Amino acid sequence: MKIPDPALPPPALRLRVDCAAIGENWRTLNQMSGKADAGAAVKADAYGVGLDRAMPALLDAGCRNFFVAHWCEVPAVLQHVTGKNVSVLHGPTSEADCAYARAVGVRPVLNSLAQVNAWQSTGGGPCDLMIDTGMNRLGLRAEELGDPALEGLDVEVLMSHLACADEDGPQSAQQLSRFRDVLGKVLHRRASLANSAGIALGADYAFDMTRPGLGLYGGVARPEQAEHIKQVVTPQAAIIQTRMVPAGETVGYGATYRAERDLPVAILSIGYADGYLRCWSGKGAFRYGEAVLPVLGRVSMDMTAIDVSAAPQLAEGDWVDAEYNLVEASARTGLTQYELLTLSGPRLRG
Ligand SMILES: *Cc1c(COP(=O)(O)O)cnc(C)c1O
Repeated sequence: MKIPDPALPPPALRLRVDCAAIGENWRTLNQMSGKADAGAAVKADAYGVGLDRAMPALLDAGCRNFFVAHWCEVPAVLQHVTGKNVSVLHGPTSEADCAYARAVGVRPVLNSLAQVNAWQSTGGGPCDLMIDTGMNRLGLRAEELGDPALEGLDVEVLMSHLACADEDGPQSAQQLSRFRDVLGKVLHRRASLANSAGIALGADYAFDMTRPGLGLYGGVARPEQAEHIKQVVTPQAAIIQTRMVPAGETVGYGATYRAERDLPVAILSIGYADGYLRCWSGKGAFRYGEAVLPVLGRVSMDMTAIDVSAAPQLAEGDWVDAEYNLVEASARTGLTQYELLTLSGPRLRG
């Protein structure tokens, strides 16, 4: 059957991504990393920002080491870099994973003795090795490092991951000390410990490579970084209808908002299916220039109503920006900055 294929009209919502800000954030974090090189966590479609937008900006800024979580994320990254620049954090859980890693030349991050054995028994080769220093998520324990399976392992990056770098407390220092203890026990070319928050903990945490994610995309992992990190994403939506809501009537599902006076309202083509979650109901706001346009009532799946009293000239087809400062948005919604970034839906991401 021949399916007609006319040009698609432009979408009525989009995630504005400031690619220059991604590059600047990487340079900032790279500089804060001192002698260490900053890599980039680009898992989860570059934290919801879109890999195809983030990768060119990161490469252009000078980034050369990229981290994804899943094997299924590798092909999209290889559109931009060769395999030797890519590490897969979840590591190989099957022979097929090992074979795939070798075929495309990416490094698996080996996270257990089982993964070490799987990698070595299928032919070995360059890999990264994750050490668990107290997070108890992935990685080999120090006690396991004497295992004969590790002999001859070709470790490019020896790494560990901090559980509490975004908080003040004793755990980061304890993990640092445990990490230092294992450095002499495993032959490796480079060592890496810090994520975005860890970079702010100082030069001791930087080693040879840091692995920021959140900060690249505008997240502020620690207050020290607030003034240096630039906002990257802004959800934007078009107005698909305007109306005057008569005094006394309600807006949206559940009738949770009641107009006290005749109110000019605009309906936006963005909703919770796009990642603009229901927690913004009655709490969020959009902006048109300096005008602040509060969200009225509940956010629907594909639509959100806003009060346009502050910009009554707005009409169908005009675009507005969501207020989406990650630090403030997180405080308002109870979602983390990580969630606020990665939950952007496919229609929004485009
Ligand atoms: C996701 C991830 C990072 C990046 O962490 P951020 O907090 O986003 O900077 C670094 N290392 C590992 C192992 C990760 O899983």
